[in-house]
Formats: sequence, structure tokens, C-alpha cells
Amino acid sequence: MNRIPLLDLKAEIELLWDELNRAIQEVLRNGVFIMGPNVKALEQEVAGYLGVRHAVALNSGTDALVLGVHALGIQPGDEVITTPFTFFATAEAINHFKATPVFVDIDPRTFNLDAEQIRAKITPRTKAIIPVHLYGHAADMDPIMEIAREYGLKVLEDVAQAFGGEYKGRKLGAIGDAGALSFFPSKNLGAFGDGGMLVTNDDDVAETVQMLRVHGARKKYFNERVGVNSRLDEIQAAILRVKFRYLDEWNRKRRAAAARYNELLRDIPALETPYEAPYAYHVYHQYTIRVRGDRRDWLQAQLKEAGIDTFVYYPVPLHLLPIYREMGLSLPEAERASREVLSLPMGPMLTKESQYEVARSIRRLRESGRDEPS
Ligand SMILES: *Cc1c(COP(=O)(O)O)cnc(C)c1O
Repeated sequence: MNRIPLLDLKAEIELLWDELNRAIQEVLRNGVFIMGPNVKALEQEVAGYLGVRHAVALNSGTDALVLGVHALGIQPGDEVITTPFTFFATAEAINHFKATPVFVDIDPRTFNLDAEQIRAKITPRTKAIIPVHLYGHAADMDPIMEIAREYGLKVLEDVAQAFGGEYKGRKLGAIGDAGALSFFPSKNLGAFGDGGMLVTNDDDVAETVQMLRVHGARKKYFNERVGVNSRLDEIQAAILRVKFRYLDEWNRKRRAAAARYNELLRDIPALETPYEAPYAYHVYHQYTIRVRGDRRDWLQAQLKEAGIDTFVYYPVPLHLLPIYREMGLSLPEAERASREVLSLPMGPMLTKESQYEVARSIRRLRESGRDEPS
């Protein structure tokens, strides 16, 4: 029996094989591998798609966060409010400049920063908020932007998992002062290696990031400040331009697959399908269920045996990692989510048959309780 993978990248590559090959070969023929025409074109295409003034292609989503934090003027000793239920890079980018992440608990329905709890954590040192649109679902941006305006804070959206997603009809990444995209291979728009992008309407932020990605030089060899090497490869840009043309269609396929799962997994005891808030256009980077009653790990192990790959994003909320544990925080919803979440196979190439198989296995296991520890 074939395994059902979490994401079927091979099927995507096969479908676009000829187009991708042509694009890669054209780069080889041109012989320009750094900051070439594809990087420039991709930046323009992404900026146009999101409706922002600037898109700066970078080496990774992590660099988009790190350079974004820097360009927004975060200084050592500053505090930045963010969610504990995300990939480490979100908070790491804050620590990079010796600023301090301040973790605010999540809304249990969306798994995103609970806007209502932000105010209580603001101090005179608070300089910014980094909301994460986790799993492809928008954070509640209106109250976040309102608080930011009230206290003069910058907002950097972590859009790594939500490219193409929307909040009240507005594209994610175009709402805050800047947005960080990731083109890690498994993301909704994925390269065949690392890649990322910083998007913004702020001319100064864009200029700073453009400078920092090439060793702090506006003009080659006339370096003005200490930067990094964080360019997106021309070959990756060419690949991304091919795949970008499919982003909207593939996000629609993810949504259709999610709707099918919702139907197939209805009314199973102790299992909760994902919520989509009225304000969100969810792009289902992950289709993540909750399994209640301490049965998550058991269910995951049983599904593995049945040939179905699943994953836990994330088994440890950031405030309980060794480097943040000394903060002594208790954030009950993030902690509960880390015990209950399970991401099922998802992606534009996921077949109905695979979904039936996943749902059948889950139903059989949940309802029989077979081998289930009591
Ligand atoms: C993937 C991811 C990142 C980091 O992106 P990379 O391109 O892997 O550096 C940051 N934040 C979130 C939420 C992510 O999922």
C-alpha cells in the first residue's frame, strides 16, 4: 500500500515538469545566477499580487523576519509582542537584535495571537507586534492594527504559512508595516531550496532591507553599514515564477480539500475540525484538527501504522523552550493546543481517495477505541 504523505511535492513537480525545466534551462543559458531578471520580475509580480509598493527577495523567510525586525527599527532592550504558538524563527528574529519577545496567549479557535490579551502586555518598551497567520488562517488584524496605532507600534506580519490568504478581503502581508514570506519547499508557494521575501509599503523599510541583503551597500563596493548576504538565487526565482502562476488555483484546491475533510470528519467524538473565522480566507497551509482527551499521540501512532503521515505543529509552545522557560509564563491555550493539534495530509495534489482513506482510518480508530489506552 502506498503511504499518504503529509504533502505530495513529487506530484506537483511532475505536473509542472516541462515548464520548470524550461525555466531552469533558460537561467543556465543566460548565465546570470545572482540578482538577475527573474529575481526582479518575481519581486514585481509578488508586489503586484499583494498590492504593495515593494517586495524584496531574500534567502529565507527567517531572513525576512530578521531583516524586517531590523528595518522597522527594533533596538536592543525593546519588547516585541508575538505568539508562543509558531515556528521558532518568529521569536528568534526578535532575539537576534537583543530585543525581547513578549508572548501573548492564542485564541483557541484560530490558534493565532489573541488580540484581546495584547493591551495587558504593553509596556513603555514595547515597539512592535508580530502576528503570525498560522496554518494559513489570518490573525485578527483590525484590533491588532488599532492597538498598534494607539501605542505607536510597528506591525510585522509573519505570512510564511499564509501566502494568498486574506483578512476581510485584504491580502495578508499587505496590512501591517511589513510582511515576511517564506518560500521553503513545503510552503504554499515553495522553491526547491530556501527563499523568502519582505513586502512593505514603506519606502524606507524597503530601502533598508535592499541594502542589508547585500552587505549594507546601496552601490556595490560602497558599503555603508554592516549587513548580510541574503539574496534569493536566480534559479529559485525562475522556479517560483512558474509555481506562482498556480498559487491561487492551488489554494482553492486546498480549500476544497479542507471542505471535504470537514464533511468526512463531522461528529466524531473528541475530534474538532478547523475553524474558519468570518473575516478569514483560509489557505490551509495545514489542515489541523484537535484531538481531545490525551488521545492525540495515540491517534498519530495508529495512523502511521495505517500508512498515513501526520505531523504536530508544534509540540512545544515557545515559552516552554529552554531559552524562554525562565520567563516562567503560563499560557494555557497555547499549551493545550500543543497537546491536541494534529495536521493531516493536505496540499493541492491531495486526491479524494486519499482523503477518504484518511477519514476512514480516523473514524475506525476513534469509534472503536481499539487498542486505545483507557
Ligand atoms: C517556515 C516559517 C518561517 C521561516 O521560514 P524559512 O523560509 O524556513 O526561514 C517563519 N515563520 C513561520 C510561521 C514559518 O512557518
